[in-house]
Amino acid sequence: MSEAMARDLTHRPVILVVGGGYVGLYTALRLQKKLSRGRAEIVVVDPQPHMTYQPFLPEAAAGSVEPRHVVVPLRRTLNRCRVITGALIGLTHAEKRARIAPVEGTSFDLSYDVLVMAAGSVARTLPIPGLAEHGIGFKNVGEAIYLRNHVLARLDAASSTDDPAVRTRALTFTFVGGGYAGIEAFAELEDMARYAVEHYYPRLSPADMRWVLVEATGRILPEVDLDMGAWTVRQLTARGMDIRLNTRLESVSDDGVVRLSDGEEFPSETLVWTAGTKPNPVLAQTDLPVDGRGRVECETTLQVRGMPDAWAAGDLAAVPDVTKDEPGATTAPNAQHAVRQAKQLADNIVAVLAGQEPAPYRHKYVGSVASLGLHKGVAQVYGVKLKGWPAWFMHRSYHVSRVPTFNRKARVVADWTLASLFRREVVSLGQLQDPRREFVFAANTGRTGQLPPPRPEAPGTADTPERSQAG
Ligand SMILES: Cc1cc2nc3c(=O)[nH]c(=O)nc-3n(C[C@H](O)[C@H](O)[C@H](O)COP(=O)(O)OP(=O)(O)OC[C@H]3O[C@@H](n4cnc5c(N)ncnc54)[C@H](O)[C@@H]3O)c2cc1C
Repeated sequence: MSEAMARDLTHRPVILVVGGGYVGLYTALRLQKKLSRGRAEIVVVDPQPHMTYQPFLPEAAAGSVEPRHVVVPLRRTLNRCRVITGALIGLTHAEKRARIAPVEGTSFDLSYDVLVMAAGSVARTLPIPGLAEHGIGFKNVGEAIYLRNHVLARLDAASSTDDPAVRTRALTFTFVGGGYAGIEAFAELEDMARYAVEHYYPRLSPADMRWVLVEATGRILPEVDLDMGAWTVRQLTARGMDIRLNTRLESVSDDGVVRLSDGEEFPSETLVWTAGTKPNPVLAQTDLPVDGRGRVECETTLQVRGMPDAWAAGDLAAVPDVTKDEPGATTAPNAQHAVRQAKQLADNIVAVLAGQEPAPYRHKYVGSVASLGLHKGVAQVYGVKLKGWPAWFMHRSYHVSRVPTFNRKARVVADWTLASLFRREVVSLGQLQDPRREFVFAANTGRTGQLPPPRPEAPGTADTPERSQAG
């Protein structure tokens, strides 16, 4: 923001916020609170009409929280911003011009004065044969709900046949990547499936299921100390889950046979990829400076290096970590930094608009909490290590305090309360994966009732709502 513009009270600067996730939502919320209507126009662009509270996705997949309650509607929450449902597809900051592709219709240019780049990250995949055809990520609510329905539908399939090959294939669930997102998804879904099998599938036993987690390094949960990661491996192994450390996924055949680097091969109808993230590739379509890992280079004030009117934070930003002595250290991509950076970023924009100096971002990472299923968890916060029920309780208390808006907090607590009073809901709404199937069959053939049973679709072809969230 030029000094002249800061002083020019007749000019109403346009603040363009790219991405309405953690950073985008919190930044826009604070800006709309701190800037009067006439002071600036805030425009938020996101392909999704909502922010996703990603730490609740594993619980949404397990059915402990309603899917609608893990998202925050942008238009309702950002009622003093202009919300565009679309994606940034290019940006020339030198001309302060962004190219936007709305969900429908032709793309258009948008001029702005101040940029907030907050388009997050996407799954970091590898060119593994068969992965794109058979795998699914775990970053958005569509994927979480797809997996819930898919896992339960596999139990239905296995319980309804005596063919051992079909049963084995259906009941083998493979996950790749042992960070917190992967471990939470793996553990929560196993916990849900175990409950379902024990209560509603008399023809199946938990021992019939095979849950395999493949991790390329020698440990899981790098966010906590080694002993806590090792404890988690022991806990999951005691539940009968198969954790393969120092192992990679090599390939997946056309008929879904998974091959690992340790030489083992097995058929699996479920393949979930949670092996890390990378900055949103849309950055390549901009003139913002990026580092060797593809992240936007930032100053400690969260300004983009060499561009005082552009700001960035969250998963796609290389923000110097001033709490560490190591030269070149940057903050880790997680919600804890994202939410705090958003606050600092908004305050800095307000300060610069008022002709003041921006302040540096400073936050020492306090630790992690992870849920491993109902009443099970692992946590390390301010150096305090918790296991089992206390960790799980801390996970829930922490995240309910963090999920944006009172409305969402109340709904999540109501979900948990109802779930504790009644039995767990473990029904597959498999029709959500392909809702037009029956109608299309009827319309094409003039018949109903003779539809062949649905096959499990490869995730890449299933009709999964909201799959495009990560851009
Ligand atoms: C399953 C899971 C569990 C997690 N659990 C934890 C946890 O327990 N603790 C923790 O600290 N962190 C956790 N994280 C990480 C945390 O959610 C992220 O670090 C955080 O969301 C990053 O915020 P962000 O704003 O940078 O990105 P996001 O929140 O991902 O927001 C990016 C936004 O940009 C939008 N977008 C994408 N492309 C475009 C485009 N071209 N144009 C416009 N908008 C675009 C997206 O739709 C999205 O809304 C978890 C992540 C996952 C996936």
